[in-house]
Amino acid sequence: MALLVQKYGGSSIPSLDRIKAVAERIAAAHHAGHDVVVVMSAMGGTTDQLLTDAQNITAAPPPRELDALLATGEQASNALTSMALSALGVEACSFTGWQAGILTSHAHGSADIIDVRPYRVRSALDRGVIPLVTGFQGLIYGGADVTTLGRGGSDTTAVALAAALKADACEIYTDVSGVYTADPKVVPEARLLACLTHQHMHEMAAGGAKVLALSSVEYAQKHSVTLHVRSSYNHCPGTIVSDEFFDVTYAQQSPTVIAITHNPHSTKITLPGRPEPAPPPLHATTATGRSTLRSSPPRAGHRDVPCDEYTATASLIGSGLCAHPETLATLRRTLTHAAIPFTPMTMTDTRITLMCPPSYLADAVRALHKAFLAHTPQPQLPRHNRQLTLQP
Ligand code: ADP
Ligand code: ASP
Ligand code: MG
Repeated sequence: MALLVQKYGGSSIPSLDRIKAVAERIAAAHHAGHDVVVVMSAMGGTTDQLLTDAQNITAAPPPRELDALLATGEQASNALTSMALSALGVEACSFTGWQAGILTSHAHGSADIIDVRPYRVRSALDRGVIPLVTGFQGLIYGGADVTTLGRGGSDTTAVALAAALKADACEIYTDVSGVYTADPKVVPEARLLACLTHQHMHEMAAGGAKVLALSSVEYAQKHSVTLHVRSSYNHCPGTIVSDEFFDVTYAQQSPTVIAITHNPHSTKITLPGRPEPAPPPLHATTATGRSTLRSSPPRAGHRDVPCDEYTATASLIGSGLCAHPETLATLRRTLTHAAIPFTPMTMTDTRITLMCPPSYLADAVRALHKAFLAHTPQPQLPRHNRQLTLQP
């Protein structure tokens, strides 16, 4: 018997029928003898709709009120899933973020989880009741207001609960079979990665692979939480994100480039002149980042910061990238051959990022995947790590 945290994303619950299907999956794990803690996202499209509603009321909704609004999406899906479990004859109890003890910083819209006190979740487990926790939301530590954690933040709720409860597994259920060598919706021939280190997953999330929110990977890395990314639509084994067991086997098997990621919503900021006293970030990759940069008071010498809204980025993720100059040469040759305009932006040992016009982004990702990953064998999950695949 294991303690499982299972998170279901909005892509897993676009409809009430899918809520019922997810409830059946949760019930099956419960009947198999596991203790299950569920984290629910809002139903697919709900958060976007709530954001649009707020924008239709006012262009600048007060951050506190916007969080109060956005938090309702998860509350609805969470209560509905709890009802679906009850209808299956399984005792379940829904909890909001604050009821589950998710305590956060003050930053409305992008709060960090700073403590988790899951007393009621534990007590439900002790009574054999399935606790369901609303993802993406918390309560200001030492305060009384609701916060949200930034887009994709239910992943972070799941990881934080798994760490606090010392769960045996943190399963992130989504609409694809795991983490792939590229977004499978953009590159149909992308391959499933059986295993991945936290660092590689961190680079992928930072490069735009939204299958896991960046903050969730940071939290998992910091608290050594093993993640299991899999589909709620099938029973494929999925992807394990862990640093355990990987040292030798993974390093030996790992090719230089393991994935291509992309971000259609990057923003290029060009700073004229020499920045004083310290340069602000050169680029921001989220809408939050954009508004923060725009609303920042101008620093000396940066009165008019040109902001190109329409930049996209693609990244090569791997190991030892700086040690292999041919990687950059292949990147240049590939994109030039495909007539894709691009500008190299950053290069570290684990990530090379380039900018290109959004209309070329999908072609750039496909061309890079073909050049770097079409024939590369991917590292396999070490034999003794297969036990992490707990659920059929
Ligand atoms: P959820 O609603 O479950 O949180 P998301 O839409 O946030 O799901 O994330 C899942 C999506 O991430 C997939 O549908 C896929 O299109 C996208 N994605 C981007 N890059 C990758 C990748 N490398 N591997 C898997 N999925 C990816
Ligand atoms: N519902 C939120 C979003 O759409 C949080 C999440 O899905 O994880 O971003
Ligand atoms: Mg998500």
